[in-house]
Amino acid sequence: MVAKLPEEEHPKAAFGWAARDQSGVLSPFKFSRRATGEKDVSFKVLYCGMCHSDLHMVKNEWANSIYPLVPGHEIVGVVTEVGSKVEKFKVGDKVGVGCLVGSCHSCDNCTNNLENYCPQLILTYGAKYYDGTITYGGYSDTMVADEHFIVRIPDNMPLDATAPLLCAGITVYSPLKYYGLDKPGTHVGVVGLGGLGHMAVKFAKAMGAKVTVISTSPNKKQQAIECLGADSFLVSHDQDQMKVAMGTMDGIIDTVSAMHPFVPLLGLLKSHGKLILVGAPEKPLELPAFSLLMGRKMVGGSCIGGMKETQEMIDFAAKHSIKSDIEVIPLEYVNTAMERMLKADVRYRFVIDIGNTVNSSH
Ligand SMILES: [Zn+2]
Ligand SMILES: [Zn+2]
Repeated sequence: MVAKLPEEEHPKAAFGWAARDQSGVLSPFKFSRRATGEKDVSFKVLYCGMCHSDLHMVKNEWANSIYPLVPGHEIVGVVTEVGSKVEKFKVGDKVGVGCLVGSCHSCDNCTNNLENYCPQLILTYGAKYYDGTITYGGYSDTMVADEHFIVRIPDNMPLDATAPLLCAGITVYSPLKYYGLDKPGTHVGVVGLGGLGHMAVKFAKAMGAKVTVISTSPNKKQQAIECLGADSFLVSHDQDQMKVAMGTMDGIIDTVSAMHPFVPLLGLLKSHGKLILVGAPEKPLELPAFSLLMGRKMVGGSCIGGMKETQEMIDFAAKHSIKSDIEVIPLEYVNTAMERMLKADVRYRFVIDIGNTVNSSH
């Protein structure tokens, strides 16, 4: 059997930017989207956030990339068509798609609204869909997904600054809730002040926590406190500051994916404190048991969130006026944006203005 070309696989023409190989360079790409199925919602993509995993995926750094690869899993837009059995959405609604577009719907995780932990979850891009075709992400003009994986964006939210909530937002919201760090009066540390970290500060503050940012860069102190509302700031290599803060935190959300020492972070925790990892350093952690035994501390992890919780996070953000701090860029700027993202040269998330720039990017 001869494999069909990406632009002939499905009935609806689509256009986006794709990486063709592990150089990671993105360029214009014609492909196609499936017809709107009875449970599907189709929408015109207006904005798409750029996540750090897009950078890893275009370069095949996790060794599972399928090319051509259209990245993007912080996708927002306006509904253009709904299937006959769609119940929750109608044409004209503002919607989003995050990291997932499919799961088995029957395992323990799925039945507990944790599709994100389903062994058969289908990622928004670079994965095999039920029909055997490859999924393409939001660096593109249109999107179609099963309504179960569509999130409603309330009318009062700005679409551009809401897009990053669909990955960065839920990635930090879910562990704050699950690990009980969402109570007024808790003291939460946030390690790293990038796309994830700045969202963690905003959500934890809105939940009523006292928030301390822990960073290697002293020059981020002003942003953390004045712009994002953090209560205090620690320079992680300043022994004196770290010593004073020992044993003061109920939990820490660690967003850093570069290698860094964990023992000093465990030292910041009170007894029963929790160090929660949402970044993924390449090498195994160095974790001496004594740093956990003393104070019954724990280290946990968390990965995005289920669909029910993702909607809850968006509604919470709408209620508390939480949005991402973004730099909006045209689609043809994505390669430069990837390079700048690698250097953490963005405050704090690039969002591609697909709606206004896709036509000029062919
Ligand atoms: Zn992401
Ligand atoms: Zn499942």
